[in-house]
Amino acid sequence: MNNNVNMFDISNFGVNVFSREAMKKYLSKEDFEIITKNIDDGKALNLGEANTLASALMKWAIDKGATHFTHWFQPLTGFTAEKHESFLNIIDDKPINEFSCHALIKGETDGSSFPSGGLRATFEARGYTVWDPTSNCFVKNNTLYIPTAFCSYGGDSLDKKTPLLRSMEVIGKEASKILSLFGIVDKVIPTVGSEQEYFLIDKKLYDERLDLVVCGRTLFGAKPPKAQELGDHYFGKINKRVSEFMRDVDKQLWELGVPAKTEHNEAAPAQHELAPIFSSNNIETDHNQLTMEIMQSTAYDHGLVCLLHEKPFEGINGSGKHNNWSLKMVKNNKNIFDPGDKPEDNLMFLLFLTSLIQATYKAQGLIRISVASPSNDHRLGGYEAPPAIVSLFLGDDLCNILESIDKEGQVSVKNSLDTGVKSISQFDKDTSDRNRTSPFAFTGSKFELRMVGSKQSIASPNVVINTAVASALHDYYEILKGKTGEELNKAIRLLIKDEYNKYKDIVFNGNCYSEEWVKEAEKRGLKNYKTTYDACIHFKDEDNANLLKRFNVLNDNELESRYEIMLDDYVKQLMIEADTMIKMVRKEILPSVFAYHGDLAKWLKDAKDMNAYANSEYEILRSLANYIEAINSLLGDLVKKADEIKKIDDTDLNLKAKMTKEELLPCMEKLRSAVDKCEEIVAKDYWSLPDYCDLLYSVKY
Ligand code: ADP
Ligand code: MG
Repeated sequence: MNNNVNMFDISNFGVNVFSREAMKKYLSKEDFEIITKNIDDGKALNLGEANTLASALMKWAIDKGATHFTHWFQPLTGFTAEKHESFLNIIDDKPINEFSCHALIKGETDGSSFPSGGLRATFEARGYTVWDPTSNCFVKNNTLYIPTAFCSYGGDSLDKKTPLLRSMEVIGKEASKILSLFGIVDKVIPTVGSEQEYFLIDKKLYDERLDLVVCGRTLFGAKPPKAQELGDHYFGKINKRVSEFMRDVDKQLWELGVPAKTEHNEAAPAQHELAPIFSSNNIETDHNQLTMEIMQSTAYDHGLVCLLHEKPFEGINGSGKHNNWSLKMVKNNKNIFDPGDKPEDNLMFLLFLTSLIQATYKAQGLIRISVASPSNDHRLGGYEAPPAIVSLFLGDDLCNILESIDKEGQVSVKNSLDTGVKSISQFDKDTSDRNRTSPFAFTGSKFELRMVGSKQSIASPNVVINTAVASALHDYYEILKGKTGEELNKAIRLLIKDEYNKYKDIVFNGNCYSEEWVKEAEKRGLKNYKTTYDACIHFKDEDNANLLKRFNVLNDNELESRYEIMLDDYVKQLMIEADTMIKMVRKEILPSVFAYHGDLAKWLKDAKDMNAYANSEYEILRSLANYIEAINSLLGDLVKKADEIKKIDDTDLNLKAKMTKEELLPCMEKLRSAVDKCEEIVAKDYWSLPDYCDLLYSVKY
């Protein structure tokens, strides 16, 4: 545990970040101005400037205790990757610190083991990491971290960051064009704040569960007598150990410039949430990766483990990541999706809102695909998380405005809320209520995508949102350009009306968890990709590919590679789970049942000798024997199926994935179900695995 945990305050915010302030200190005034201007204008630095910056960066990092540096990148695994190198060089037999502009700007890595989906065969393994000047360098664990993009020798993106930066440029450009119609000259960036859910459990118990160690989730476990039924954990009192963990996390995040803000207990026992103050899209993507890393390493320091899996415990609420998205005018520092006091007259807001309706409709499949993973499959549609059907919640007020956009005497929005209690003042209410069941909800001034899985990178869903909104805005500009004054206003209203009528099927303000909505969505022709496999096979559908290719956010090679990686990852992750199940049943679960069964048989025999035989005890013995047979037989089925799928050639990925979904998963579910039932009757002392009660209530005080 970090002893300085009580000694932190906001004066330390960003001390480990090579911020503009740090740059100013370590660069001459002249160099600072030239270099930051070039970075802000997106211009490449010349050799001299780059060398000056590299040397300032090294001096700063060494002052912060760094001895090494690393290019930090986000390969298609969805996690981050790093390769450390020291500043050390030996010149004339003497050790010196050295860091050139080449080391800053470009790294070469033999990254042939990263998933590339065929973009890079092992014989041409060269991959490059290239400095991303739009995100800050930072020092962590005596190492200077340089955020980079990762691409192949041929220039294709091998990472999550490059398409994100491309999509940010595209939406920035298209949104600025729309602003110009309203006489505003400004840059636009997407802003994102991601609320991160997680579980904390005691490390000692974690270490005793192979499934948690290898897969991040329990593959077995009977339901505990109490989970989240009483709703007493949600926003409940935060216990001391968790609170110390949270403060320690905050301290480290603040030093890294990550503005951790809100922390609370979540719905399930042992579940918590952390939300930051939002940042620009790519910085928040980096920040969220850092947040997950710091939470995991800090938990370890506190004798805890932070589980980021979407569904660590079956039958208990899973973890997601709410991705709050909006657009910001940079110079004016204004949120474009702030409806203002009179949204009905705020044509700019309404036009942007309409672009989001179109985007969500057209990219519904891609949004679903961007959050697909075998672990998130356990969560989506599970009646505690949004369904797999994408829809947009706007609230009745905004819908009424859009419905009557071309009518005289338009509806207006009642903006204040009266609680009926005199001592409590009236306050402004949001333009929409909360609808926790909606996968994508307008929450007053931003759109909250709740489908993202807790351990996923937020890059991919934001790439889709940025690109789809940019595409709508691009077309709107073509229709509206050249018009001014009343003519422009009329054209905008007409456009909003047409667009809303065309795409309003994606808008749904009701209960998305209900059976009726599934039926209604089908009637509306909305897509319902229930599993990752069902979703991913549509990735290359013409409309999806065209959208991603329209502004070169992804090229054909990159589309193909991501498609392959998604399917490959699906098969591999589930195969690892299947193999872990097999190992656990053979090495731990069956031996536990054998031991209890054997002892019970001995006891019964003794009891018989003593004339104290209990029939019910015999029945339990019989049940155990039946479970042993059943578990063994289901284990055999799983082993056979896993072997069969492993034998299929990798070139037939689609078949492998299809069989994994349709044949392997059911074998896993049947085996689990038998084991969980058996767990209920085996004596606690004999069950070698910590059970759900042990795990969920392991952090008591
Ligand atoms: P809610 O109560 O609706 O969940 P919060 O105010 O708690 O909203 O914010 C949730 C997350 O949304 C936070 O990370 C916050 O920084 C982020 N957020 C707020 N405004 C914006 C915005 N304009 N753009 C992006 N994210 C935002
Ligand atoms: Mg939220």
